[in-house]
Amino acid sequence: MSEIKRTIPKKFYSDSEGKPFTKCRVCDVDLSDGKVPYSIEKAFKKTEEGEDLTLFELAICVHCAEKQGKKMSKDSRAFIQKTMMTPKFFERRNKMWGEKWQDKWQDKCIFSNTDISAHSEYHVVGHFVGNQVIEHQSPFVIGQEMLEYIQENLSLETKEELDQFGRQFLGPDPRIAALMEDYQFVMV
Ligand SMILES: [Zn+2]
Repeated sequence: MSEIKRTIPKKFYSDSEGKPFTKCRVCDVDLSDGKVPYSIEKAFKKTEEGEDLTLFELAICVHCAEKQGKKMSKDSRAFIQKTMMTPKFFERRNKMWGEKWQDKWQDKCIFSNTDISAHSEYHVVGHFVGNQVIEHQSPFVIGQEMLEYIQENLSLETKEELDQFGRQFLGPDPRIAALMEDYQFVMV
C-alpha cells in the first residue's frame, strides 16, 4: 500500500530518456540509490493541437538545488519564500497527501486552485528519494498565473541567472526551439 502510494508518477519521467531520472543533471550524482533526496521540475506548454510539450525538465539533487538557490538575489529569494512557502501551501500539500494524491495532484494549481486544464503553461514539481515520493510531500502543479506572477517579481539578475541555468535542460522536442526565443525561465 505505501509502496504504491509513493510511486513516482510517469509525468516526472525524463522525456529525453523515456525513463525515470537516475542522475542529478547538474552534478551527475546517482539518484537511484536513495542516498540523496532530489527534486524534479518540468515545464509544459500546450500546443494548438492540445498536446502538452515539455519545455524543460530538470532533476536536481538537494545539494545542487541549495547552491542554485544561493545564486538567486536576496530579494528574489525572499519573494519566493513569501509567495510560495506559505502555510496555505503546506496545508494543501499535506491534505493532498492524506487523500488520494495520485488521482488529483495534477488537477489544480496548488496556489490559485484553478483548473490546470485551462492553463496553457504549467510546471510540475516533486520531491523524491530513490524511486519514491518523499512522504507527506505530494507532487504539485504551478499554473500559469502564478508562474507569471513569480516571473514579474524576480530581480533582473535572478532572471538572467535562471535563463542561463535553464537553457541547459530543454526538453527533446525540436518544436521548442521556436518557443524559446522570448521565453522567460522560472524555476522553484
Ligand atoms: Zn547535484
